[in-house]
Formats: sequence, C-alpha cells, structure tokens
Amino acid sequence: MNKPLLYAFILAFVGCSTEVKKSQNVFFAGEIINPTSEYVVLYKDEIVIDSAKLNDENKFSIELESVVEGLYHFDHHPELQYVYLEKGDSLLVRLNTNNFDESLIFSGRGKEINNFLLELFLSTEEEVPTIYSYARLDPMDFSNKIDSLRNIKTSTLNVLQKEAALSDNAIALAQASIDYNYYNYKEKYPFWHRRVSGKKSIPELDDDFYGYRENLDYNLDGLAYHRYYYNYLKSHIDNLAYMGCAKDCEGSHREIIGDKLHFNQHKLAVINDLVKTKNLRDNLFRSVAIYYLINIHDTTENIEAFIKDFQKYSSNNQHISEIEAVYEGVKNMQPNNKLPEVMVFDNGENLISLQEIAEKNKNVVFYFWSGTQEQHFKNIIRRVDELRSLHPEYTFIGINCNTEMKRWQAMLFTYDLDLDTQYRTDDFENLKYTLVIGGLNKGIITKNGRIVDAYADLYRSF
Ligand SMILES: [Zn+2]
Repeated sequence: MNKPLLYAFILAFVGCSTEVKKSQNVFFAGEIINPTSEYVVLYKDEIVIDSAKLNDENKFSIELESVVEGLYHFDHHPELQYVYLEKGDSLLVRLNTNNFDESLIFSGRGKEINNFLLELFLSTEEEVPTIYSYARLDPMDFSNKIDSLRNIKTSTLNVLQKEAALSDNAIALAQASIDYNYYNYKEKYPFWHRRVSGKKSIPELDDDFYGYRENLDYNLDGLAYHRYYYNYLKSHIDNLAYMGCAKDCEGSHREIIGDKLHFNQHKLAVINDLVKTKNLRDNLFRSVAIYYLINIHDTTENIEAFIKDFQKYSSNNQHISEIEAVYEGVKNMQPNNKLPEVMVFDNGENLISLQEIAEKNKNVVFYFWSGTQEQHFKNIIRRVDELRSLHPEYTFIGINCNTEMKRWQAMLFTYDLDLDTQYRTDDFENLKYTLVIGGLNKGIITKNGRIVDAYADLYRSF
C-alpha cells in the first residue's frame, strides 16, 4: 500500500476507532509543520524500528505488525520525543518544528497516555527553577514541597485512569515517570542546598528523607532509556559516590568534587556495585565515561587511569567503540598535535581537510554552529564579530553541522557571512567524537597548523 493511501486509511480508521475491533497492529502517523528533515524515524531504545518519508503534505505513516509494548521515541531530526505504544494503537501526532514539544499533540487510540506523558514532560521541565529555589529550605520543608508536587501529578493520573482505559503497563510507566522525576530532586537536594545557601557543608539528612530508596530497583532494564528513571539513577549515583568518598576517603568535601578523576572513579565503582542489568549498566558507565572524557580535559596520565578502571568494570560495554572513538579524539586533540583527519565542504561543495584550512592561516579559531539552533547561530556570529575586532590576529572559521546544503548557503547569504571562512559537514556524529565537541560554544585554536587549545570557549577563553 502506498503511503498517502495508507495515511487516508488511518484517518478513516481513527475516525471510527471506538467501533473498530482492536487490531494487533500499530499505526503511528502524523503531520509535521515546518519540517526540518524529510524523515520520521521510530526507535525502540537505540534501535531503529521503522522510518517514513514525509509526503507532499508533510504527512507520514508507519505501520508495525508486531510491537513490543513500551516506550519508543520518534526522531524528526534534530528533535525527538517519546511515544508509548501498545498493540492496537493508532496514534496520530501533529507538531510544528518551530515549537516542537509545546506544539505536539496526540490523537487517536493511545492518545490519553501519550498526552499525559507529554504534559508531564512539559510541566516538569517548567518546574525546575521553582524547585531549585526550594533548595534553600530545610530538608523537611523541601521534602514536603516535593511530596506535594508529586501528589498533584499522581492525582491527575488517578483521574485519567478513571476516564480512560489505561493498561496496567501504561499506568506503571506514568507512575514511574512521576516518582523518579521527584525523587531525582531529593538526590540533588544536599548539593543544591549547599550552593544556594552558601554553606560550606551539606545538610544532615535523616533516613526518612530518602525513604523511597528502600524500594528502589536498580535493574529496571525496560526503563534503561526512560528519561526520568535514567536521570534519577545518574543523580543517585553522584550522590552515593560523593557520600561514599566523604565517609571513606581522606580530604574535605570540596576536594572530592575538585579531584575529577577520583570522583569519577568513585562513580564507576558505585555503578559496578549496584547495577547488574546489561543495558542500564552499559548506559550508565557510558555516560560517566563520555562526560569525563569530553568535559574534564584531564591530563593524559589521569585519562589513562580512568580508562583502565572503565575497562576493568565494563570491557564488554555495548558502547565501547563510541567511547574508544572519544578517547582516541581526546588523545589526538592534545596541544602541538596536527588536527585529525576531518573533511568539510566549502561553499563550492569541494571537500577540504581542516588541517589544510589550519595551515593556510597563521592563527585560526574554528567555531561550530547548526542551522536548526537559530538563536545559538545568531549569538555565535555576533560573538565572532566581536572577537574579530578584538583579536584581528585570528582567522575565524565557521563549521556548520548538519544543515542541508541549500539551507546553509541561504543562511550564509542572508546573514552576509564571508564565504571564504565558512564550511560545513554532514557528519556531525563523527566530527563530535573526532574533535571532542561537548557543546556548540567550543572553539579550537590552532597556530601554524598545530593545536594550541582544543577546548577553548568562545565566551570565556578570550
Ligand atoms: Zn574518595
């Protein structure tokens, strides 16, 4: 069946869904206003389940014959959102990429749980600053605030449960989303409290404060890619690593965080002790390793010690090739090295290596931007203009990441950028690992074709 036809069929199907006998198949379809890519890709965890190309009306549809009930996510590059699918669902999604999450709405069979999860996501995102401001409170008051927010969300779920026929799995997933979102704040509380109150030490907490930990399951592999559960575990591991170090090792609390290698070694050991299930264990180890490698910029000696520990605990990690690529990247990006082999396109669509660009100019600053993050792009070109007049000795080279060729060329033209200093890549994944790019404000400084600083920041390093 061709896609437009199928789409028409789904609309008809959804329109009379109450009378239709529950099919085993799952339809996932929808419309994307202002698309930023031609495709919608459906994932279960990290595995591509199916994908669909948008038609002339920016509509897509995916049909799955057998589906494992649970949490999926769909990717419309560069954004993604979660979707919960059960047998017989025929879910329609509509969204505008100008305001991806906020504009998103689900309809059709399965809409209730999906709209609930989406609203939960939007409201919990909005709550963060308020909860951060509560961190000033004493443990008991903070705990009460968090519990009451959690109770409100739970009541909303209870009401929905009465109105819509949610499956037990859907209810369990929604409840876990609520619980782990709020438990996460309790794990963060001691550190937030110390920061906002300006105190030197972290507050004393009684056992009640972490009461939920008694029933904590470290091995819910089905939630290994669930944002709330996973984020909770990360905060919990940070908390345990810190407390364990404070208790067992010499040195003041301030030094625990200061010695990044030592603290991250603690984190690896905590994960090794607590988490046995494969996906979660691999993901958590990966997250500590990638963070440490990309953000800490430690000495070569320390990095080797870290990697040794990592391999001791997780030599069969499913993400090992990615971690090795970043490790390789970190080693290659040391001062005085040449740039690693990376090819980019110039405005005439010719390939040229970064090293060649670096060698053509005495002092170079490479900076990065993406057409899909327009605000960042405007800020960064304004900042580069400033830096150019402050530091005329540098040539500033813009590397665009993953913006389609025509759109990129249109942006260069619209913003009147110097074509001789603008390049682009289609392969940001590779670039990210090879050049160890942790964030888009990164700059790489070279002199006479050699790296001076691979981890400069356009706002702080000049
Ligand atoms: Zn320690």
